[in-house]
Amino acid sequence: MVFVIKGKSIILFGPPGAGKGTQSGLISTMTGKPQVSTGDMLREAVTDGSEVGREAKSYMDRGLLVPDEIIMQLIKMRLSRDDAMGGLLFDGFPRTIPQAMALETLTDVSMVISLVVGDDEIVSRITGRRTDPETGEIYHLEYKPAPQHIRGRLLQRDDDTEDTVRNRLSTFHKQTAPLSDFYREKGILIEIDGSGDIKQVSSSIEAIIDAKSGE
Ligand code: ADP
Ligand code: ADP
Repeated sequence: MVFVIKGKSIILFGPPGAGKGTQSGLISTMTGKPQVSTGDMLREAVTDGSEVGREAKSYMDRGLLVPDEIIMQLIKMRLSRDDAMGGLLFDGFPRTIPQAMALETLTDVSMVISLVVGDDEIVSRITGRRTDPETGEIYHLEYKPAPQHIRGRLLQRDDDTEDTVRNRLSTFHKQTAPLSDFYREKGILIEIDGSGDIKQVSSSIEAIIDAKSGE
């Protein structure tokens, strides 16, 4: 196992549907850093029916970002757990400049892996996305078909409709894409072509982490 700068966190960045969840297991295994997805945490809060969940859902359903204060509360709680000592792998966080600035006061970030994928490809990836509720595995109707025997239990996320995807993409371009410049200026942004198939993107990520671990 290799560690990319022990104790520091890694950010997996990219538009909705870029493949962050799909690739996070590989990065987590290679670096030993636990994966933290704010989207998954919010969906758990929605399922639990908590107050945070109810408030978050009203934004998520419209393809808008959940307010920074709610997100930072979740992140602070997660960072206070013992397994966060060696740094975390953030997936889908930060998504605004204020979130990125708040994160700086909580943990050091060693690198930001940015998956670059065009908008048209995003729409077909998101509308075909299906999740296995039993294992959490992410599938795609065309690009990563699930085994026949589990197809009946797959779920489609409420916000994975074409209309909501367009809103999420516009939210991404307005509020989240500026983070690329924020991290580029810090010299820690690594852009990866995320438009190839899942294996090709995994190989690019592996090569980057191997190279960084050897530095
Ligand atoms: P994100 O976490 O960035 O929202 P996901 O990992 O959930 O994205 O991927 C979105 C959808 O696209 C899923 O259905 C997934 O199976 C599919 N997918 C992921 N990476 C690729 C790829 N490189 N090529 C084609 N489809 C992909
Ligand atoms: P995707 O990457 O496929 O858009 P996520 O599961 O990361 O999906 O996020 C789903 C929704 O949860 C987002 O559209 C947004 O409403 C909310 N969300 C997730 N992470 C954040 C965050 N860091 N800041 C604000 N809202 C967030």
